[in-house]
Amino acid sequence: MENTLQLEVLETGRELLARADKINRRSCLFSRSYWEEKVLDMVMRREALKIQLLRYIDTFPALKTYNQRLGHLVQYLSDERVLKEKIIRLLFILLKTHPIPLNILYGLATSAGVSFFAHKFIAGTSPREAFHYINRLIRKQMTCTLDILGEAVLSEKEADEYAQRYVDLLENVGRMLKENSTSFQLNVSVKPSSFYSQFKPSAPEKTADRVCERLYLIMKKAKELNAFVNLDVEQYDYREVTLRIFEKIAFDDEFKDYPHLGMVIQAYLKDALPFTLRVIELARRRQSPFTVRLVKGAYWDYEIINARQLEWEIPVYVEKWQTDARFEQLTRILLDNFPQVRLAIGSHNVRSISYAMAYAHKKGIRKSDLEFQLLYGMGDDIKAAIVEMGCPLRVYAPYGDLIPGMAYLVRRILENTSNESFLRQRSAGRMAAEELLCNPLDLAKDENERTQFISIPQ
Ligand SMILES: Cc1cc2nc3c(=O)[nH]c(=O)nc-3n(C[C@H](O)[C@H](O)[C@H](O)COP(=O)(O)OP(=O)(O)OC[C@H]3O[C@@H](n4cnc5c(N)ncnc54)[C@H](O)[C@@H]3O)c2cc1C
Repeated sequence: MENTLQLEVLETGRELLARADKINRRSCLFSRSYWEEKVLDMVMRREALKIQLLRYIDTFPALKTYNQRLGHLVQYLSDERVLKEKIIRLLFILLKTHPIPLNILYGLATSAGVSFFAHKFIAGTSPREAFHYINRLIRKQMTCTLDILGEAVLSEKEADEYAQRYVDLLENVGRMLKENSTSFQLNVSVKPSSFYSQFKPSAPEKTADRVCERLYLIMKKAKELNAFVNLDVEQYDYREVTLRIFEKIAFDDEFKDYPHLGMVIQAYLKDALPFTLRVIELARRRQSPFTVRLVKGAYWDYEIINARQLEWEIPVYVEKWQTDARFEQLTRILLDNFPQVRLAIGSHNVRSISYAMAYAHKKGIRKSDLEFQLLYGMGDDIKAAIVEMGCPLRVYAPYGDLIPGMAYLVRRILENTSNESFLRQRSAGRMAAEELLCNPLDLAKDENERTQFISIPQ
């Protein structure tokens, strides 16, 4: 049985890759995303340059004048490992020979550079842009979830404004869709830490209560419009409170029958399996099903650094195959619990996607009952290939200003330039399809290790 499944995963993966490659070849020279990826790859292949540019991007919103922007850029690029790059040395020679007039030019160029990265991963700034984006997606037979950029707010005023922006987004885009007779279910993703300035895992009750006060406003508007609300999961120490918030909403008298609700499970956490079982238990107790978006986890670098700094145990796996294998195991468990739990696979990894397609097929679950979700600006050819294969596809589309979006932007750049990233390994073109699609369990050291990622508790 296991062998038949693995064969089907391989077959599905090969088909998906072949379709994506074909789409890529067809559109490459004319597609903006092709060139964006080339530039990103060229700049970010150089580790020292990547680190300094990320530091620069982090400070960028605080730099108001061209001189400040240029001054900081020079400072960051003066790192001796970065100066080994020919292009950077050339830049410095030009700066020295034409210091004054070029200041403005360089200032403009750096602004353009940062906004290049921002536009690659951020879909727009206003509800109108969201509406136009939705229309473009409808033409491609895709849907989306809108995320307003921002996390970890610093004041209660900011938290109120943030919640209100979601209500406004739902209302405005909902109205535009209605005016244009467009049939489309609105879908938003929200980050709990944006709804309370004192979001503290050590005060879970108070934190959950305050977050829920604001989340209720969004839920009410969503219910009025039949829209979907997904609660994203952030760093590890926020996860428990996030589950508490989700539970409060899911069992609230007003929303306990509301099916358009979802939350996230991160497979990279060492305790992802017991956590998933708790989520399933919650779904069994609820009258109406909800959706789980299964992801690997976006805070990997943060979790490692944070745990090392505090001398705590690292909560995430440190070998990539372990995260991938856990992802497949959780895919099985969640699909085994369909329809109490509906599953959305949040991944760009063709092996992880194919595994879910093959396992759902084996279980007799219809294609329309398993959704695939990918991030805006990443894996566009894979998105189109998934649609060609007749599966529902949703794009996670962040909206808003660059300043609150910086943390999101840095996470995406880190992810896209990591040597272990599936998308990067694929775009480097050094791996054959078989290698890209290999079973993560083949990398386990022994049978004992393998078993941890296979067995499913009843
Ligand atoms: C629609 C959508 C919504 C998302 N929402 C959330 C969310 O709410 N919360 C959240 O945390 N993330 C979220 N993510 C991001 C997601 O967790 C991943 O960071 C991202 O999708 C990359 O994983 P992948 O399967 O696409 O790619 P892959 O390249 O297969 O996997 C990369 C991931 O593997 C893990 N990893 C990398 N190196 C190692 C290592 N050495 N050891 C162990 N594990 C490693 C990391 O999680 C890394 O992100 C979302 C992603 C999508 C597509």
